[in-house]
Amino acid sequence: MVKYRDSVEYRESFKAKRLVRYRDSVEHRESVKAKKLVRYRDSIEHRESVKAKRLVRYRDSIEHRESVKAKRLVRYRDSIEHKEKVIESIMSKYHGSVEYKERVISSVRLGRKQKVEKAKDFGFVREQFLEKVRDGPDFVCCVCHRLFFRYQVVVCEREAYRESSAAVADRCIGQQYLHRCSGECVAPCSLVSSRGNLWICYTCDRKLRSGEMPAECWVNNLELDPIPAELGSLNSLEQHLIALHIPFMKMLALPKGGQNGVHGPVTCVPANIVQTANVLPRSNMEGSLLQVKLKRKLTYKGHYEYQFVDTLRVRQALEYLKRINIHYRDIEFNEDWVNEFVREEDREREEAESGSEDEAQESSDQHPETGRQIADGRGFGVG
Ligand SMILES: [Zn+2]
Ligand SMILES: [Zn+2]
Repeated sequence: MVKYRDSVEYRESFKAKRLVRYRDSVEHRESVKAKKLVRYRDSIEHRESVKAKRLVRYRDSIEHRESVKAKRLVRYRDSIEHKEKVIESIMSKYHGSVEYKERVISSVRLGRKQKVEKAKDFGFVREQFLEKVRDGPDFVCCVCHRLFFRYQVVVCEREAYRESSAAVADRCIGQQYLHRCSGECVAPCSLVSSRGNLWICYTCDRKLRSGEMPAECWVNNLELDPIPAELGSLNSLEQHLIALHIPFMKMLALPKGGQNGVHGPVTCVPANIVQTANVLPRSNMEGSLLQVKLKRKLTYKGHYEYQFVDTLRVRQALEYLKRINIHYRDIEFNEDWVNEFVREEDREREEAESGSEDEAQESSDQHPETGRQIADGRGFGVG
């Protein structure tokens, strides 16, 4: 002891040795920690001195202060239980002390004033926005399966719903979008930050806490089925060609959010798919493309849509729908297709032209029926 107190050299070497031992031996580290805990719990004096030291460090080191704040924020954000505890303690403090209450009120007022002033600064507003959307809308609510930004969701803890209704929570919380890394993942896995956890949006969280099933819950017959490959590969015009009804609606750009909205009634016009399917030329070649114009009325010069159509894909989609959808059951394919629309001189001209693209162009122009005939005299517009 005397040596430790009097010789600086000895003290330093002793400290260094202690550090190495603490770092390298797990056992020793655990025992030191346990001893510290006991001392902190049992000696009032020691506890006070530790607290005072911590306060000084928090006050004097900016780095330490920031790291403590960041840790606190993460804990507050991610643990619902901890959040509730914090809120409860603040509430009791607020109602218990008049002085604290006044301090809070004045600081809130000041904060609001500063916020209004800062909102005029474009750079500040942009920075705040970028911070909010930094992670991208990759977070799936495990109850309603909607995609959210990080600030719109909290970590889903089943325990939090035990009190209200465990059965409802167990039924609603789905793990379909929870990502567990496997051999196929590229390290480091980019999905872990957004999909490695179960997240829940505030709406669903509130509903589950009150013991109700959220209206948007996937169990509420709102689960999305995967799109079969036969239908997923169609482009918008091909989808039009096999649709039983073509909806007409007036679309408006909504004033906020950059989205479109429907205005007024929606009218569904039945379409004759059999006729459409029958005029499409037969070809067993994969990738045989055809240019098709979709017109609102056949006599119109202009068109609504003008795209390449793969007849084989249209046929495969129709066959698939015929198998699984009762509304498509009556569709018959005309196997011996005869191109009755081609006139003699066109055929001659076609033979003379060898460019396949021109041919397709010609044939689409000669088959006006390929575009659906839809009366447009009633004031409907296609949005
Ligand atoms: Zn949700
Ligand atoms: Zn992974």
